[in-house]
Amino acid sequence: MTERQTITVLGATGSIGDSTLDILAQHSDRYELVAATAMNNVEKLVNIARTFRPKFVAIGNEAHYSKLKAELADTAIEVGAGESGLLQAASMPVDRCMAAIVGFAGLAPTLMALQHAEYLMLANKECLVSAGDLFMSAALKHGCQVVPVDSEHNALYQLLHDQDVGNVEKFTLTASGGPFRDYTPEQLQTVTAEMAIKHPVWSMGDKISIDSATLMNKGLELIEAKHLFGLPAKTFEAVIHPQSIVHGLVHMQDGSVLAHLGEPDMRIPISYCLAYPSRLSSRAKRLDLTALGTLSFQKPDEERFACLRLAKAAMEQGGGATTALNAANEVAVLAFQRGELTFPGIPALIEAVGEVMPDSRQTDLETVYAVDAQSRAYAEEKLAQRSVF
Ligand code: NAD
Ligand code: MG
Repeated sequence: MTERQTITVLGATGSIGDSTLDILAQHSDRYELVAATAMNNVEKLVNIARTFRPKFVAIGNEAHYSKLKAELADTAIEVGAGESGLLQAASMPVDRCMAAIVGFAGLAPTLMALQHAEYLMLANKECLVSAGDLFMSAALKHGCQVVPVDSEHNALYQLLHDQDVGNVEKFTLTASGGPFRDYTPEQLQTVTAEMAIKHPVWSMGDKISIDSATLMNKGLELIEAKHLFGLPAKTFEAVIHPQSIVHGLVHMQDGSVLAHLGEPDMRIPISYCLAYPSRLSSRAKRLDLTALGTLSFQKPDEERFACLRLAKAAMEQGGGATTALNAANEVAVLAFQRGELTFPGIPALIEAVGEVMPDSRQTDLETVYAVDAQSRAYAEEKLAQRSVF
């Protein structure tokens, strides 16, 4: 037997965590889980620990530390908690780290993982939106290869393999359009978080499901793509494709267009990341073109789905504008989930924050944290004033 690859999963109890562990279980002869983290779900983390026997597990919420410790007292598994626990998990030297914490909270552990993993399998797009310039230069500095998990970026990454980027004219990222794709502005006023979380095609965590419904997810992904591929903002476009079968397209200068297709199942891109530059067999459903029949495409409506327009504007501006966009979006999504903001109130709040944030560059991490904190404070202030709805 060849030596097993060592893996850390940050955000092991989430949707991406589930899919990753499913593949690790299927290929236990090839992979060994070394560390796993979660925020609150102690039971699930204990289950993961007992199944995969990693060296170390950490729970983000320190209040759960004693429970986690007690539950694993009869094992040799080390236990940590809080920010230091998450950073300790991210510091384990491994072949590959899955970065699947949701939101800006994942930035510090993911930056730490860059220094200790050979390959970073990046699901946490908010890292690149908030601090893409710093993030990609840190990866380069530490010799860590960032392999994108996000299905569209994973598709483009696969398509670019062995291609000269100089021959590329344009990249297309597809978007399902979410559950409210055909809703009128009046209907959008009344939708709830519960409705938004029921995504028509993908099964995902709550935040990304709401981001998909507002099309902010596609906006974040355009910014993510710009950093991952190191190309100008205008090189990337988003197209609505309700079936989510074509994930990404690369338009070459000779008129050829390369497309990546697959069932909407995150185990496909995750398998690619785990095996890169090789391949793994996957339990994902196989694509049946004639059963599908039709694939359709349309232009996104940036008026009804203003988050996409705002994200594109922030991407053009660059630097702190995308940090502020991400922070305001995180506040807005939580407020929408609490019923304190309507669905159209999400872009309204983000726009209000963007208007007051001063221009800044992502020169250092302190600046990124300061812009993030200031944007959240502005957003909370606006919410408290009920000046946006
Ligand atoms: P999720 O909500 O299902 O899981 C999030 C994970 O992060 C959980 O393990 C949770 O315990 C942990 N977590 C949450 N808050 C935390 C905090 N403050 N500190 C530390 N850990 C915390 O989310 P998900 O759908 O798995 O998405 C994870 C990331 O991957 C997101 O950035 C998302 O945009 C990206 N992504 C997800 C999908 C998908 O299909 N789910 C696809 C592409 C990209
Ligand atoms: Mg995606």
